[in-house]
Order: sequence, then structure tokens, then C-alpha cells
Amino acid sequence: LRPQVLDLGDALSDLTMLLRRLIGEKVKLDLVHGRDLWPVKVDVSQFEQVIVNLAVNARDAMPDGGKLIIRTANVTSEEAGKLAYKGMPAADYVRIEVADTGTGIPADIRDKIFEPFFSTKEVGKGTGLGLSTVYGIVKQTGGFIYVDSEPGQGTSFHIFLPRHHAEA
Ligand code: ADP
Ligand code: MG
Repeated sequence: LRPQVLDLGDALSDLTMLLRRLIGEKVKLDLVHGRDLWPVKVDVSQFEQVIVNLAVNARDAMPDGGKLIIRTANVTSEEAGKLAYKGMPAADYVRIEVADTGTGIPADIRDKIFEPFFSTKEVGKGTGLGLSTVYGIVKQTGGFIYVDSEPGQGTSFHIFLPRHHAEA
């Protein structure tokens, strides 16, 4: 594990080719980078795992095609305080939003999706380990993850990674 100080916009741009290949031709990829993103400190291959797992799930939720939108933005401590997501302290974060226009997640399973081995996919098509891996990595990085979903409309995962402050 080698956490590195980096710009998430650059890290995501580096993944563009891989992501397009993963989601196939029927799903359009939209990358929207916030300006002057603060640095974060993450292990690059772990960050890649997070994005790839979310992208694969998004693809699986859009068998007839759709849109995968990845947005980044700085979230100030003041904004974070107002968001009042459960357990997230007011601090500066960089947010990565991974959204799709897929099936959505039924409300009754929404609090199970981060559990290891929970899957609604056919045997052989999913291990149920994707989101528990994502959750573990985000927590280990000192971050937070939340999901918003509207059945029939789509799903959006919000990841908040703490802003890295350069050591003097
Ligand atoms: P797997 O993909 O192997 O089933 P995951 O841990 O990645 O396991 O996801 C768990 C479950 O959460 C999926 O089986 C699916 O029901 C649901 N899920 C995850 N991401 C999405 C998404 N973007 N859209 C709809 N459902 C999703
Ligand atoms: Mg998965």
C-alpha cells in the first residue's frame, strides 16, 4: 500500500480508456472535473479498484445502454457541515460522484449492498464483493461513501475523500 498525494481529476483521466472498455459501446461516459481540485492522499491501485467496481456495477445496471457520469468537486468544510450525512464530520473533502441512468436500487436492499457477498446477480455474474471492497478502501482512506438511488431512474454513489494538507 503506497498512498500518494494526487489530483483525482488526473487519476480519473488516466482511467478513461479502461473505463470505456469496461462499460462497452452502449454506455456513454461523461467525465466532469471540478476546477482546481484539492489534492488527496490515496493508493492509486486502490482508487482504481473503487472506480472500476462502481463502473462495472453501473454497466450491469444499464443492459440497454445509458450514461455513466463521473463528477469531481471540492466540498468545503462549511458545505460538508450542511450536507449532514450520517457520521461525516465537517471538514474539507474532494467528492467523486459516480452516477448511472440504470435500474436503480430498490429501497429494501439499499442498506445491504455494502455487505460482503450480497448480490442480486445470477450465480457466476457477481460475487457480491465489489461494494464491500469499495467501502473498505474508502474507510481506510479516511473517507465516506453514500448512495442515492431512484428505482427506474438511476443510482449515484458519492465518495468524500479528505483534503490532503501539504506538510510544511
Ligand atoms: P455484485 O456486483 O457482484 O453483485 P456488489 O457488491 O458490487 O456485488 O454490488 C452488490 C449489489 O448492489 C448488486 O448485486 C446490485 O444489486 C446492487 N448494485 C450495486 N451497484 C448498483 C447500481 N449502480 N445500480 C443498481 N444496483 C446496484
Ligand atoms: Mg459489483
